[in-house]
Amino acid sequence: MLIDTHAHVNFHAFLDDAKEVLQRALDSGVWVINVGSQIDTSSQCVELANQFPSGVYAVVGLHPEHTHSQVVDEEETHFQTREEVFDYEIYKKLARDPKVVGIGECGLDYYRMPEGVDPKLIKQKQKDAFRAQVKLAKELNKVLVIHSRPEKGNNELFDDLLEILDESKTAEHLLLAEGESRPKGGEGVGANLRFEVHSFTGSLEYLQKFLDRGGYVSFNGIITFDKTGNMEKLVRMTPLDKIILETDCPFLTPPPNRGKRNEPSFVRFVAEKVAQIKNLTADEIAEATTQNAKNLFKI
Ligand SMILES: [Zn+2]
Repeated sequence: MLIDTHAHVNFHAFLDDAKEVLQRALDSGVWVINVGSQIDTSSQCVELANQFPSGVYAVVGLHPEHTHSQVVDEEETHFQTREEVFDYEIYKKLARDPKVVGIGECGLDYYRMPEGVDPKLIKQKQKDAFRAQVKLAKELNKVLVIHSRPEKGNNELFDDLLEILDESKTAEHLLLAEGESRPKGGEGVGANLRFEVHSFTGSLEYLQKFLDRGGYVSFNGIITFDKTGNMEKLVRMTPLDKIILETDCPFLTPPPNRGKRNEPSFVRFVAEKVAQIKNLTADEIAEATTQNAKNLFKI
Protein backbone atom coordinates (compact mmCIF):
# COMPACT_ATOMS: atom_id res chain seq x y z
CA MET A 1 0.00 0.00 0.00
CA LEU A 2 0.87 3.69 -0.29
CA ILE A 3 -0.15 6.84 1.57
CA ASP A 4 -0.79 10.08 -0.30
CA THR A 5 0.09 12.38 2.60
CA HIS A 6 -0.92 15.62 0.87
CA ALA A 7 -4.01 15.70 -1.35
CA HIS A 8 -6.73 18.28 -1.95
CA VAL A 9 -9.72 16.14 -2.87
CA ASN A 10 -11.55 18.74 -0.76
CA PHE A 11 -10.88 21.36 -3.50
CA HIS A 12 -13.24 22.59 -6.19
CA ALA A 13 -11.67 20.37 -8.89
CA PHE A 14 -13.27 17.37 -7.16
CA LEU A 15 -16.64 18.99 -6.47
CA ASP A 16 -18.57 16.39 -8.46
CA ASP A 17 -16.70 13.20 -7.64
CA ALA A 18 -14.68 13.56 -4.40
CA LYS A 19 -16.12 10.39 -2.85
CA GLU A 20 -15.55 8.31 -5.98
CA VAL A 21 -11.97 9.57 -6.28
CA LEU A 22 -11.27 8.65 -2.64
CA GLN A 23 -12.92 5.24 -3.04
CA ARG A 24 -10.79 4.65 -6.16
CA ALA A 25 -7.68 5.44 -4.14
CA LEU A 26 -8.67 3.09 -1.31
CA ASP A 27 -9.51 0.33 -3.80
CA SER A 28 -6.04 0.66 -5.30
CA GLY A 29 -4.40 0.42 -1.85
CA VAL A 30 -3.78 4.13 -1.33
CA TRP A 31 -4.70 5.92 1.90
CA VAL A 32 -5.27 9.67 1.67
CA ILE A 33 -4.62 12.68 3.88
CA ASN A 34 -6.58 15.65 2.55
CA VAL A 35 -5.23 19.07 3.43
CA GLY A 36 -7.14 22.31 3.99
CA SER A 37 -5.99 25.76 2.88
CA GLN A 38 -8.49 27.89 4.80
CA ILE A 39 -11.52 27.41 7.02
CA ASP A 40 -13.99 26.15 4.41
CA THR A 41 -11.61 23.70 2.70
CA SER A 42 -10.43 22.58 6.15
CA SER A 43 -13.98 21.79 7.27
CA GLN A 44 -14.53 20.04 3.97
CA CYS A 45 -11.61 17.66 4.45
CA VAL A 46 -12.80 16.75 7.97
CA GLU A 47 -16.24 15.99 6.54
CA LEU A 48 -14.76 13.83 3.78
CA ALA A 49 -12.59 11.90 6.23
CA ASN A 50 -15.64 11.09 8.32
CA GLN A 51 -17.42 9.58 5.35
CA PHE A 52 -14.97 6.67 5.34
CA PRO A 53 -14.47 4.18 8.18
CA SER A 54 -10.70 4.18 7.62
CA GLY A 55 -7.94 5.26 5.25
CA VAL A 56 -8.96 8.91 4.81
CA TYR A 57 -7.66 11.61 7.16
CA ALA A 58 -7.57 15.41 7.40
CA VAL A 59 -5.14 18.26 8.01
CA VAL A 60 -6.65 21.64 8.87
CA GLY A 61 -5.09 25.07 8.62
CA LEU A 62 -4.55 28.36 6.81
CA HIS A 63 -2.28 28.51 3.74
CA PRO A 64 0.02 31.57 3.66
CA GLU A 65 -1.42 32.85 0.38
CA HIS A 66 -4.85 33.07 2.01
CA THR A 67 -3.58 35.54 4.61
CA HIS A 68 -4.12 38.24 1.95
CA SER A 69 -6.27 38.65 -1.16
CA GLN A 70 -4.78 38.30 -4.61
CA VAL A 71 -5.38 36.73 -8.00
CA VAL A 72 -3.17 33.70 -8.60
CA ASP A 73 -2.66 32.99 -12.27
CA GLU A 74 -0.17 30.30 -13.20
CA GLU A 75 0.17 27.41 -15.60
CA GLU A 76 -1.98 25.01 -13.60
CA THR A 77 -3.71 27.36 -11.23
CA HIS A 78 -6.10 30.26 -11.49
CA PHE A 79 -8.00 31.49 -8.49
CA GLN A 80 -8.69 34.46 -6.26
CA THR A 81 -7.35 34.03 -2.75
CA ARG A 82 -9.63 35.22 0.04
CA GLU A 83 -8.06 36.99 2.96
CA GLU A 84 -8.53 35.19 6.27
CA VAL A 85 -7.10 35.86 9.71
CA PHE A 86 -6.17 32.63 11.52
CA ASP A 87 -8.77 32.06 14.24
CA TYR A 88 -7.05 29.89 16.83
CA GLU A 89 -10.15 28.76 18.68
CA ILE A 90 -12.15 27.85 15.56
CA TYR A 91 -9.30 25.79 14.11
CA LYS A 92 -8.66 24.22 17.50
CA LYS A 93 -12.24 23.04 17.67
CA LEU A 94 -12.02 21.59 14.16
CA ALA A 95 -8.64 19.97 14.86
CA ARG A 96 -10.03 18.03 17.82
CA ASP A 97 -11.88 15.74 15.42
CA PRO A 98 -10.18 12.31 15.71
CA LYS A 99 -9.67 12.18 11.93
CA VAL A 100 -7.48 15.30 12.02
CA VAL A 101 -3.83 14.27 12.01
CA GLY A 102 -2.12 17.59 11.29
CA ILE A 103 -2.18 21.38 11.15
CA GLY A 104 -1.60 23.10 7.79
CA GLU A 105 -0.87 23.62 5.19
CA CYS A 106 0.79 26.56 6.76
CA GLY A 107 4.10 28.29 6.33
CA LEU A 108 5.37 31.02 4.04
CA ASP A 109 4.99 31.84 0.35
CA TYR A 110 7.17 34.68 -0.94
CA TYR A 111 6.78 33.58 -4.57
CA ARG A 112 3.43 35.17 -5.21
CA MET A 113 3.48 38.62 -3.68
CA PRO A 114 0.55 40.90 -4.51
CA GLU A 115 1.41 44.13 -6.30
CA GLY A 116 0.97 47.52 -4.69
CA VAL A 117 1.29 46.29 -1.09
CA ASP A 118 4.38 46.58 1.10
CA PRO A 119 5.94 43.08 1.04
CA LYS A 120 6.92 43.52 4.70
CA LEU A 121 3.25 43.69 5.70
CA ILE A 122 2.38 40.59 3.70
CA LYS A 123 5.31 38.66 5.17
CA GLN A 124 4.34 39.73 8.67
CA LYS A 125 0.78 38.46 8.23
CA GLN A 126 2.09 35.13 6.94
CA LYS A 127 4.51 34.80 9.85
CA ASP A 128 1.81 35.59 12.42
CA ALA A 129 -0.48 32.91 10.98
CA PHE A 130 2.40 30.42 10.85
CA ARG A 131 3.43 31.07 14.47
CA ALA A 132 -0.14 30.52 15.64
CA GLN A 133 -0.30 27.22 13.77
CA VAL A 134 3.03 26.03 15.22
CA LYS A 135 1.50 26.70 18.62
CA LEU A 136 -1.69 24.81 17.78
CA ALA A 137 0.22 21.81 16.40
CA LYS A 138 2.16 21.66 19.65
CA GLU A 139 -0.85 22.15 21.86
CA LEU A 140 -2.82 19.35 20.17
CA ASN A 141 0.22 17.18 19.38
CA LYS A 142 -0.54 17.11 15.63
CA VAL A 143 1.90 17.15 12.72
CA LEU A 144 2.77 20.59 11.35
CA VAL A 145 2.47 20.51 7.53
CA ILE A 146 4.77 23.20 6.15
CA HIS A 147 4.42 24.98 2.81
CA SER A 148 7.60 26.75 1.68
CA ARG A 149 7.75 28.57 -1.62
CA PRO A 150 10.62 31.04 -1.89
CA GLU A 151 11.15 33.98 -4.15
CA LYS A 152 13.47 32.82 -6.98
CA GLY A 153 17.12 32.82 -5.96
CA ASN A 154 16.49 34.05 -2.44
CA ASN A 155 16.63 31.98 0.76
CA GLU A 156 15.06 34.56 3.08
CA LEU A 157 11.90 32.43 3.28
CA PHE A 158 13.76 29.37 4.55
CA ASP A 159 15.63 31.46 7.13
CA ASP A 160 12.32 32.90 8.33
CA LEU A 161 10.72 29.45 8.60
CA LEU A 162 13.69 28.04 10.51
CA GLU A 163 13.73 31.02 12.84
CA ILE A 164 10.08 30.46 13.77
CA LEU A 165 10.63 26.71 14.24
CA ASP A 166 13.64 27.43 16.44
CA GLU A 167 11.74 29.96 18.53
CA SER A 168 9.21 27.29 19.31
CA LYS A 169 12.08 25.12 20.50
CA THR A 170 13.17 27.61 23.10
CA ALA A 171 9.55 28.11 24.14
CA GLU A 172 7.84 25.48 26.19
CA HIS A 173 8.97 22.36 24.35
CA LEU A 174 12.12 20.71 23.03
CA LEU A 175 12.67 19.18 19.62
CA LEU A 176 14.14 15.70 19.60
CA ALA A 177 17.89 15.34 19.50
CA GLU A 178 19.49 12.38 17.73
CA GLY A 179 18.85 9.15 19.64
CA GLU A 180 16.47 10.78 22.11
CA SER A 181 13.18 9.03 22.70
CA ARG A 182 9.94 10.77 21.88
CA PRO A 183 8.07 12.08 24.90
CA LYS A 184 4.63 10.59 25.45
CA GLY A 185 2.00 12.31 23.29
CA GLY A 186 -0.92 14.26 24.62
CA GLU A 187 -1.97 17.82 24.68
CA GLY A 188 -0.39 20.78 26.30
CA VAL A 189 3.01 21.94 27.31
CA GLY A 190 5.83 19.51 26.68
CA ALA A 191 4.23 17.87 23.64
CA ASN A 192 6.87 17.46 20.97
CA LEU A 193 6.61 19.21 17.61
CA ARG A 194 6.37 16.74 14.73
CA PHE A 195 6.65 18.36 11.30
CA GLU A 196 7.05 17.71 7.62
CA VAL A 197 8.17 19.98 4.82
CA HIS A 198 5.78 19.50 1.93
CA SER A 199 6.91 19.90 -1.68
CA PHE A 200 10.34 21.19 -0.68
CA THR A 201 12.22 22.60 -3.70
CA GLY A 202 15.08 24.47 -1.99
CA SER A 203 18.78 23.72 -1.81
CA LEU A 204 20.58 20.74 -0.27
CA GLU A 205 21.92 23.04 2.41
CA TYR A 206 18.44 24.06 3.56
CA LEU A 207 17.13 20.51 3.24
CA GLN A 208 19.81 19.50 5.75
CA LYS A 209 18.67 22.21 8.16
CA PHE A 210 15.12 20.84 8.19
CA LEU A 211 16.39 17.26 8.56
CA ASP A 212 18.62 18.35 11.45
CA ARG A 213 15.52 19.59 13.23
CA GLY A 214 13.80 16.21 12.92
CA GLY A 215 11.59 17.04 9.92
CA TYR A 216 10.21 14.62 7.37
CA VAL A 217 10.25 15.56 3.68
CA SER A 218 7.35 14.96 1.35
CA PHE A 219 7.97 14.48 -2.40
CA ASN A 220 5.41 14.71 -5.21
CA GLY A 221 5.13 14.78 -9.03
CA ILE A 222 7.71 17.56 -9.30
CA ILE A 223 10.44 14.92 -8.97
CA THR A 224 9.12 13.22 -12.12
CA PHE A 225 9.34 16.26 -14.38
CA ASP A 226 11.99 18.51 -12.83
CA LYS A 227 14.63 19.23 -15.44
CA THR A 228 17.10 21.08 -13.22
CA GLY A 229 18.37 17.94 -11.49
CA ASN A 230 17.83 19.58 -8.09
CA MET A 231 14.90 17.39 -7.08
CA GLU A 232 16.82 14.25 -7.85
CA LYS A 233 19.64 15.46 -5.60
CA LEU A 234 17.16 16.24 -2.81
CA VAL A 235 15.62 12.76 -3.03
CA ARG A 236 19.07 11.17 -3.03
CA MET A 237 20.15 13.14 0.02
CA THR A 238 17.02 12.59 2.14
CA PRO A 239 17.40 9.41 4.26
CA LEU A 240 14.80 6.79 3.34
CA ASP A 241 13.35 6.87 6.85
CA LYS A 242 12.51 10.58 6.44
CA ILE A 243 10.72 10.40 3.08
CA ILE A 244 6.95 10.48 2.69
CA LEU A 245 5.00 10.70 -0.57
CA GLU A 246 2.19 12.91 -1.81
CA THR A 247 0.39 14.04 -4.96
CA ASP A 248 -0.69 17.61 -4.02
CA CYS A 249 -3.61 16.80 -6.34
CA PRO A 250 -5.33 18.26 -8.33
CA PHE A 251 -1.99 19.89 -9.17
CA LEU A 252 1.44 18.58 -10.27
CA THR A 253 0.27 15.51 -12.22
CA PRO A 254 3.14 13.12 -12.96
CA PRO A 255 3.54 11.40 -16.34
CA PRO A 256 1.92 9.41 -17.96
CA ASN A 257 -1.10 11.53 -16.94
CA ARG A 258 0.57 14.95 -17.24
CA GLY A 259 -1.99 17.55 -18.35
CA LYS A 260 -4.88 15.73 -16.67
CA ARG A 261 -6.24 16.30 -13.17
CA ASN A 262 -4.03 14.64 -10.58
CA GLU A 263 -5.55 12.27 -7.98
CA PRO A 264 -4.32 10.23 -4.99
CA SER A 265 -4.05 6.91 -6.84
CA PHE A 266 -1.34 8.50 -9.04
CA VAL A 267 1.00 8.61 -6.03
CA ARG A 268 2.43 5.32 -7.30
CA PHE A 269 4.21 7.22 -10.09
CA VAL A 270 5.99 9.28 -7.45
CA ALA A 271 6.95 6.07 -5.61
CA GLU A 272 8.37 4.62 -8.84
CA LYS A 273 10.50 7.70 -9.42
CA VAL A 274 11.86 7.67 -5.85
CA ALA A 275 12.65 3.96 -6.35
CA GLN A 276 14.57 4.72 -9.53
CA ILE A 277 16.60 7.49 -7.86
CA LYS A 278 17.31 5.44 -4.73
CA ASN A 279 18.12 2.27 -6.71
CA LEU A 280 15.47 0.30 -4.85
CA THR A 281 12.25 -1.42 -5.92
CA ALA A 282 8.90 0.39 -5.90
CA ASP A 283 7.72 -2.14 -3.29
CA GLU A 284 10.59 -1.23 -0.99
CA ILE A 285 9.76 2.46 -1.37
CA ALA A 286 6.06 1.80 -0.77
CA GLU A 287 6.81 -0.13 2.39
CA ALA A 288 9.27 2.39 3.81
CA THR A 289 7.26 5.54 3.03
CA THR A 290 4.02 4.00 4.28
CA GLN A 291 5.68 3.11 7.56
CA ASN A 292 7.17 6.62 7.80
CA ALA A 293 3.78 8.25 7.23
CA LYS A 294 2.17 5.96 9.82
CA ASN A 295 4.87 6.79 12.36
CA LEU A 296 4.71 10.51 11.70
CA PHE A 297 0.93 10.94 11.62
CA LYS A 298 0.25 8.17 14.18
CA ILE A 299 -2.27 6.46 11.90
ZN1 LIG B 1 -1.02 21.59 -1.12
